[in-house]
Amino acid sequence: MQGLIKDLRRIVEPKRLLTELEDRMAYAYDGTFRTRVPDLVVRPVTTAEVSGVLRLANREGLPVVPRGGATSLSGGAVPLQGGIVLALTSMNRILSFNREDLLVMVEPGVVTAHLHRNVEGAGLFYPPDPQSLEASTLGGNIAENAGGPRGIKYGVTRDYILGLEVVLPDGEIIQVGGSTVKNVSGYDLTRLFTGSEGTLGVITRANLKLIPKPEARRRLLAVYDDLGAAGKTVTRIIDSGVIPSMLEIMDDTTIQVVESYGHFGLPVEAAAILILEVDGFAETVERQASIIADLCRSAGAIRLEVARNEKEGEDLLKARRAVSPAVLRIDPRKPTKISEDATVPRSKVPEMIVRLKEIARRHDVTMVVYGHAGDGFLHPNIITNQDDPEEMARAEAAIDEVFKLALELGGTLSGEHGIGYLKAPYLVNEFGPAGVKAMRAIKEALDPKGIMNPGKIFDQGIGKMRAPGRG
Ligand SMILES: Cc1cc2nc3c(=O)[nH]c(=O)nc-3n(C[C@H](O)[C@H](O)[C@H](O)COP(=O)(O)OP(=O)(O)OC[C@H]3O[C@@H](n4cnc5c(N)ncnc54)[C@H](O)[C@@H]3O)c2cc1C
Repeated sequence: MQGLIKDLRRIVEPKRLLTELEDRMAYAYDGTFRTRVPDLVVRPVTTAEVSGVLRLANREGLPVVPRGGATSLSGGAVPLQGGIVLALTSMNRILSFNREDLLVMVEPGVVTAHLHRNVEGAGLFYPPDPQSLEASTLGGNIAENAGGPRGIKYGVTRDYILGLEVVLPDGEIIQVGGSTVKNVSGYDLTRLFTGSEGTLGVITRANLKLIPKPEARRRLLAVYDDLGAAGKTVTRIIDSGVIPSMLEIMDDTTIQVVESYGHFGLPVEAAAILILEVDGFAETVERQASIIADLCRSAGAIRLEVARNEKEGEDLLKARRAVSPAVLRIDPRKPTKISEDATVPRSKVPEMIVRLKEIARRHDVTMVVYGHAGDGFLHPNIITNQDDPEEMARAEAAIDEVFKLALELGGTLSGEHGIGYLKAPYLVNEFGPAGVKAMRAIKEALDPKGIMNPGKIFDQGIGKMRAPGRG
């Protein structure tokens, strides 16, 4: 290790290499609950430094875990096998902004909301909006192909990446994609690295596509006394020809905890609510809002509120963004949140909701259900206690069933958070042994020594939730 530290000091400034335990401990966790302290932390500021670190790690066969805001909900940023954490938050510059080409070039450590504010100030729009946007980085968003409420209308991170600079595990620097909206030259490596969860290389630069900022928007709240009716509204809206820019669902428990957390004025007596948004030119927004309001009412909404101004609209969004911290307060004896993101075809949302509740009852676990219902994306969150093995066993059995259900309904294990280590044991259920073998072949071709983020995506027998290891 001493020789390696000496070599690393030739690549990065001494203050950018953390060797002391108390410094390294801050890089042991992410948004999940398993932790492992890395052997070293490097905080590079240039692509050349990233390249130098990878070349060295590859020579030594040492694991490297890229890390952005560490908000991953699948365990992506936890250094399960120790090694080097490459903390990319100091590479945080917006490098260029080209209005004529609707293009922005960024380093990976730029915080998502920072980019939003920058481009919106210039009348432009970068739609991908994970709820973690004040803490997550663009590098992490790209590596997880993150999405958010706006996905229903505007798509996800993948849809806004024109090109990337990537450092491969052997230290080689490559450019994939480019700066044009159309580009079909060769294999689409931009898409390959997008969503690769830090297992194929390190993203050090990205060319992102922007669009004009919508002129106006209107948010609505639809209140239901029946969760199924809220689910049916989702399918009706999708079928109506109006594409909302947000269609979020919360069940009764979620509404109650969010309200007691932030006092947003949500209807605590409701069985479910939908938070909706339409955007576009001012004239069309009014018409879209009125069509959606009618659809909600005819599908069973007992009350409908249209935000009268930007402040009321913003309060609705704040309530939605408060869900994640709020659900952790459901029960002080249950401090562990297992946040799943099983996703189904949109028409299956009503059935998925009903069957998720059955699963929670059968396994006697506390489950809240919310999510971007317009994308078929639901967050069944199990609130539990990782130090109680009996309760964790029930949680795990419930999660097994949630995944089975999503696949049975024609869905996927993950619509947003990626596979990480938490879902690695289940990947084969979605793609079969041959599908996983094809993915492994790509991994082995680009990273023959397996140094990049080991234990993620591919099952190495360390997934699943019980017996969380704390290093
Ligand atoms: C409260 C909360 C709400 C959330 N809401 C959403 C949501 O609405 N939608 C959604 O999609 N996700 C959501 N997430 C999950 C998480 O925020 C996203 O996955 C996000 O994209 C992670 O970004 P990050 O910078 O925190 O990455 P990290 O957690 O640091 O890393 C995530 C993965 O990306 C890899 N990585 C990071 N940077 C790079 C890089 N430069 N090159 C290569 N690999 C890299 C890491 O190795 C890891 O595998 C939420 C999380 C929380 C805690």
